[in-house]
Amino acid sequence: MPSMLSSVRRSLRASVVLANVSLATVLFATPAWSDPSKLEVFPAELARVAAELRDKALAESDAYDFIASLTTEVGPRPAGSVNDRRAVAWAVERLTSYGLEVRTEPVTVPHWVRGKAAGRIVAPYPQHVELVALGGSIGTPEGGIEAEVIEVEGVDALEALEPGAVEGKIVFFNRRMTRHPQGAGYGPAVQARGSGPAKASPLGAVAVIIRSAGTSSHRFGHTGGTRYADGVRKIPAAALSNADADMLERQVATGKPVRFHLELGCRNLPDEMSANVIGEIRGREKPDEIVLLAAHLDSWDLGTGAIDDGAGCAIVSEAARIIAALPQAPRRTLRVFLAANEEFGLSGARAYGELHADQLVNHTAAAESDLGVGKVSILRSRVAPDRMPWVRDLERLLSPLGISHVDTPAFGGADLRPLRPARVPFFDLPQDATLYFDYHHTADDTLDKLDPEDLRQNVAAYVTLAYLLAETETDLGRAPEPEQ
Ligand SMILES: [Zn+2]
Repeated sequence: MPSMLSSVRRSLRASVVLANVSLATVLFATPAWSDPSKLEVFPAELARVAAELRDKALAESDAYDFIASLTTEVGPRPAGSVNDRRAVAWAVERLTSYGLEVRTEPVTVPHWVRGKAAGRIVAPYPQHVELVALGGSIGTPEGGIEAEVIEVEGVDALEALEPGAVEGKIVFFNRRMTRHPQGAGYGPAVQARGSGPAKASPLGAVAVIIRSAGTSSHRFGHTGGTRYADGVRKIPAAALSNADADMLERQVATGKPVRFHLELGCRNLPDEMSANVIGEIRGREKPDEIVLLAAHLDSWDLGTGAIDDGAGCAIVSEAARIIAALPQAPRRTLRVFLAANEEFGLSGARAYGELHADQLVNHTAAAESDLGVGKVSILRSRVAPDRMPWVRDLERLLSPLGISHVDTPAFGGADLRPLRPARVPFFDLPQDATLYFDYHHTADDTLDKLDPEDLRQNVAAYVTLAYLLAETETDLGRAPEPEQ
């Protein structure tokens, strides 16, 4: 039951939204799309319906209820867990109720369980620290391990050390993630999480601890998958809270030997079955041509996966629900793809690529939502240069939402990776990620972090994009070759 206060807060937010809508109506009394001289390729009717759907989503979409239900009735849904399977059943029921044709496609997923995690600095100044195991880490022997700490910034610095420098030690990767609206700090910060243990082990390290790849100042670690290399001895790996990484950094800076104790109870269990969930609106003229909207249904286990990626699932599903309610289906098939196990090895994306290998060339466009639920302010595209007039018209339809096109090519998201070789045109509507990495992969990834107004703005942007892609008569062709 929502508290009295939260329902008051919600109705206050609702009136703010209404005020915004009426302000927008005044500001955009003559929207760009209604002036035929401003549209380069869109027929007026296509633009009119897209604008109607956009404004309807902004006023009344209900993606918030999707996330509330998923996080309350299922909760965290790491790959291979009982909740992972419950999430699939939940999504099938939900998408069916949205008027989509729904099916599941089986995916084999790894099954890793976290167990307990404890860490402390033993010397020179004994202190308890907060940390979490990295996804996939092996456990320590019962009673934990204790060793001297060697600090490096990142993998490059590790590889530049003298031979023997890390023998028998715990490597502390201490690169700080910088805050950025598009999450640009994540790439450099996440490198040590992904490959640090695999790089440190052959050098003789006994364990790895990293500064969390996240911007939170809360005293908890950010988890995330690590990848051991084939044939390399596996060593335990954990992420320290930023505050405790600061503490460890200060103790190392004293120049005195720093000893650390780590105990992890993680285990890798046999693989399990999960599924990709597919919900479709079958195209009325070109059912074999597919516009794909992706997000991932799995989450890490520490929070409830409200933001990563309950929000993305809700945004793309709600966009499809609004389109499914139109009197007639769009020209092409609109397919919602809720991927299994994105977080711990992209199992769902790989399975999709294998199962649909023959149809990838029939995917006319794709977009993924997996960067939380901040407001969208930019549009990125990956289309042939001669299709840019189409993209500029799209931008005109999105501009009342405060969205403008930027020249950086669309990335497409991790679950769209199998579509890259087929050169499927990609569109990104990335969320503002300034705060996203405070919550990402932590116990704080919960429903209360979402702003329902921002969520409606997201749905409005995605429904506009999805409808135009599925309904347009323009052939968007193939995207330029992906750069390596
Ligand atoms: Zn995600």
